[in-house]
Amino acid sequence: MRFEIVTIFPGFFSGIFEHGIVRRAVAAGRVAIGIHDLRAFAHDRHHTVDDRPFGGGEGMVLKPEPIAEALGSLGIATKTEGNRQGTRVILLSAQGRRLQQSIARELASLDRLVLVCGRYEGVDERINELYCDEELSIGDYVLSGGELAAAVVIDTVARLVPGVLGNEASSEFESFGAADAEIAADRDGVPRSQHGAGGLLDYPHYTRPAEFAGLRVPAVLVNGDHQQIRRWRREQQLRKTLRNRPDLLEGATLSGEDRELLYAIRAEEQKRTR
Ligand code: SAM
Repeated sequence: MRFEIVTIFPGFFSGIFEHGIVRRAVAAGRVAIGIHDLRAFAHDRHHTVDDRPFGGGEGMVLKPEPIAEALGSLGIATKTEGNRQGTRVILLSAQGRRLQQSIARELASLDRLVLVCGRYEGVDERINELYCDEELSIGDYVLSGGELAAAVVIDTVARLVPGVLGNEASSEFESFGAADAEIAADRDGVPRSQHGAGGLLDYPHYTRPAEFAGLRVPAVLVNGDHQQIRRWRREQQLRKTLRNRPDLLEGATLSGEDRELLYAIRAEEQKRTR
């Protein structure tokens, strides 16, 4: 999969993709990242990319011509012209659809994702109208530019590109994982779950030493009973989701066993707060 970033700050990305999974994905040729300096498409003496807003008001707005030319250089026509199969053009914007794992999964199936980074007050709206398939936000807060958001989108999507994560199915078993994954056992033979995370948060993880700062790892994790471990992990997922993100439970895929566990957890919580 190829990512293209259109930005006035290409230097922002130096180093950011040179770590961990994204670096390995690039090295293995599964992911490629192109960074395109918007100023190279501004032809006046000062390479001007912004101008004052029509109608007055604070700040500056990114001009449409350099962005249109940058997209044209990537072979991207307007939405009404040209074939865009396999490519999606996204405008990073606080006003966009909020990024979540299900959107990242959808984007990971594309051949090419083009990310237009705004700055100042934003991008001339005609770019959105003519070229962008959607606006995407990384959360309900305002960043000073789209670059950080583009990096977040790439990090989130790249690890879901087929073949990028070591264990193909592992993204299904982390927080927000899909419900339809089928994996009976982890590498060490421990069953993770009968189905994917189903939209719940992940369970807590522990590693050596078995005792740290007076705290021992939960005994169930060292007793070798795989069914108990699976059940304990599922219960922890339900507990954490109920505590930190109860909204996720509404859309979660829950088995009969999950519902029983949840019922017991809620009863226990009620007893404690009474
Ligand atoms: N005037 C805009 C508004 O009120 O929505 C804010 C512009 S912001 C200062 C500049 C740029 O940062 C935006 O054009 C966008 O590209 C990026 N940006 C800001 N917040 C973002 C968010 N939550 N998600 C994605 N991009 C964001």
